[in-house]
Amino acid sequence: GSTQSALNFGAGPAKLPREVLEDVQKEFLSYQDTGMSLIEMSHRSKEYTKINADVQTAVRELLQVPDNYKILLMQGGGCGAFAAVAMNLINRTGAADYAVTGTWSAKAAKEAAKYGEVNLVFPKADKPGSIPDRSTWKMNPQASYVYYCDNETVDGVEFSYIPETNGVPLVSDMSSSIMSKKIDVSKFGVIFAGAQKNIGPSGVVVVIIREDLLGNPMKCCPSVFDFTHIAKENSVHNTPATFSVYVTEKVLQWIKRNGGLDEMAKQSQEKSGLLYGAMVASGGFYSCPIDEDCRSRMNVPFRVGGGDEKLEELFLQEAEKLRMHQLKGHRSVGGIRASLYNAVTLADVRLLVQFMEEFQKRHAK
Ligand code: PLP
Repeated sequence: GSTQSALNFGAGPAKLPREVLEDVQKEFLSYQDTGMSLIEMSHRSKEYTKINADVQTAVRELLQVPDNYKILLMQGGGCGAFAAVAMNLINRTGAADYAVTGTWSAKAAKEAAKYGEVNLVFPKADKPGSIPDRSTWKMNPQASYVYYCDNETVDGVEFSYIPETNGVPLVSDMSSSIMSKKIDVSKFGVIFAGAQKNIGPSGVVVVIIREDLLGNPMKCCPSVFDFTHIAKENSVHNTPATFSVYVTEKVLQWIKRNGGLDEMAKQSQEKSGLLYGAMVASGGFYSCPIDEDCRSRMNVPFRVGGGDEKLEELFLQEAEKLRMHQLKGHRSVGGIRASLYNAVTLADVRLLVQFMEEFQKRHAK
């Protein structure tokens, strides 16, 4: 098989830096001359203990996480975190506010409703694609927390600001936008992110939590989802996804070597700007259904020929022939979606745009 990199626009698990994969390959059979693979080693070994510490340090440095926040490495994916957030935080008042801007925040709200009272701060739109102005949100001052998804991976809707909550702890799902821009962590109670988009393989979820929010889980909360317990056990309560954590650590070092979050933010503006610009230039042949003020830099959904499904199928087939993979939109929304996470380069996006222009010339009616 070919070892040449494909152009991977997948939404997740997604493209990781080639250099990280090569590094992992190099040390796969014998980690640091131990004669053992990292995946064969105890999570209590000195090697893994160092990785566990290093990954936390890297998250802290890159996001400038203040000292009064813990960094946890958990399992159960983003969906596990939907439940964990509620089980750990909703106890204070029994209620929580949710801003539903797309597929993933809708799922999170549904999950939380198993554990308490969920208030939607604005009515659910039939078709996501906009974020109602913050001044119109109907918040419950008694809410234990306010929840939103920073970037809706399926729908291509991203917040360009951090919502103000009048002192109520703010929780954000940053699974598909973490480490793509600087954020002021002090504005949040909890940030969580499944690693499998911007920072690593699936299997690990990074949770950043303000310490004063620990200590109040529901009785029903399983230990593996109990933030307080996991914090106390320094994320080795039970066997973590050691390999995923190890690769994540390497991706974070790669981000640091490559200019940190300022550079990731700059590149993601350039990459997404190029693609949205190409749609404008296409005069409607390619169209994006999302309001301009909340278009995602990370996941760019678009339609071809006004949503001509046959043409979209052909688009995907021709793209595959050019080794441009995983461009199919999520099954719930259809169309095309190009995900532009940190490891996707500006050159990759230029090739995609070039293909789009050629495709339009051949197929526009
Ligand atoms: N949140 C967001 C923003 C996502 O994109 C996804 C994933 O695909 C999830 C949550 C769910 O993550 P997981 O599949 O790890 O449960």
